Amino acid sequence: MAGMTVDKDKCVGCGLCASTCPQNAISLAGGKAAISEECVACGLCLDACRLGAIRRESGQRQQGLEQYRGILVFAEQHQGHLEDVTLELLCKAKELQRDLDCKICAVVPGRQGSHLAQTLIGHGADTVYVCPAEELDEPLEQQAADLVEQAIRRFQPEIVLFGATELGRSLAPRVAARLHTGLTADCTVLEIDREKRLLQQTRPAFGGNLMATIVCPDHRPQMATVRPGVFAKGEPEARQGEVEALPAPACQPAIQLVANQIAQRSAGIADAPVIVAVGKGIGSQKNIQYAQQLADRLGGQVGASRPLVDAGWAQYSMQVGQTGHTVAPKLYIACGISGAIQHLAGMAGAQTVVAINTDPDAPIFRAAHYAVVGDCVEVLKQLLAQLPEAPVPGGNI
Ligand code: FAD
Repeated sequence: MAGMTVDKDKCVGCGLCASTCPQNAISLAGGKAAISEECVACGLCLDACRLGAIRRESGQRQQGLEQYRGILVFAEQHQGHLEDVTLELLCKAKELQRDLDCKICAVVPGRQGSHLAQTLIGHGADTVYVCPAEELDEPLEQQAADLVEQAIRRFQPEIVLFGATELGRSLAPRVAARLHTGLTADCTVLEIDREKRLLQQTRPAFGGNLMATIVCPDHRPQMATVRPGVFAKGEPEARQGEVEALPAPACQPAIQLVANQIAQRSAGIADAPVIVAVGKGIGSQKNIQYAQQLADRLGGQVGASRPLVDAGWAQYSMQVGQTGHTVAPKLYIACGISGAIQHLAGMAGAQTVVAINTDPDAPIFRAAHYAVVGDCVEVLKQLLAQLPEAPVPGGNI
């Protein structure tokens, strides 16, 4: 593991590093900086120290890094339906591929894999690894980890991408731990440092107050999870690819659990084409009814900022933001939402944003395409008066 060390000969005990450290991991002992175990090696002290007295120590570098080439995407499916995030990851993989000049592969568990392979190829996969075993139709994390590990050992990708879904969040760390490599969760930006062939993984850090770009220079593969809706899905193309079957991983009876299959997937805000989101400016729980009526007429759903969920005015399933859901609707109407960075992190993928706020300087207006300065309850009532009552099929937009 990489860490930070202090060159005691160069350090003059000025304390600049200590005042910069967001973890309070640096103190002055005997007139020199001392770094405690709280250090997360974020590197801010490197920039703060004007004397170059702090340096990052590299951990042990894995042998044969250059043998790893290509991008592997875990293709999550349920009951033969591919999760949208899989296609979003493939679209991003195609962008990264331009800088890396490499192949893209996907690995899909379950008997529906062969049927889904053509979709994955159309969206950019050159090879699809399938494993048509009944027990992988709805795999447990352990089984999915066995399969992904097998695909990684076969293909030796330099990058592996997972959706930050319930399964992906549990699966990715298991695989990373088995392969002794790093993992960056909930990335919002993925780019390539072409010179070093490194994946630059950017995600909100320190409560969303800054964006951290994380690299994994010494181990392969470089692994990241990305929440649904963060990247675009892309259009399929007519293209050829290969399908290769992997043997079913050995069953581990000790961890066999009875898993409930959800017969019908409920439509939530993550898939809604229109979201009417409410914040504290809505004034009262009762007023949310106007947002609900507008959402119904537009064929959409109601979203909420975190304080409304904390106050019990809205369900967690409605929360948009860093600790809520990431959404990418065609239309996002923000009613009485200030536009804190943690809220914006969840709605950055919205195509058109309309913001209604009494404060003309509210940060939400910087993210909005249309700004309405006014009382959101009054504006909602006026919009309802203008719109037809019955929802138009497919929504009113
Ligand atoms: P406020 O910031 O109080 O804003 C209310 C707005 O309403 C103001 O701009 C005001 O001008 C306006 N207003 C008042 N009256 C009216 C009116 N009558 N008509 C129109 N406008 C009016 N927040 C999230 O939303 N989602 C998250 O996932 C999330 N995760 C977080 C994670 C962490 C680690 C932290 C530290 C915070 C997180 N937050 C999250 C909280 C976030 O920082 C903000 O506090 C929150 O988004 C503010 O919610 P708000 O805009 O509803 O309220």
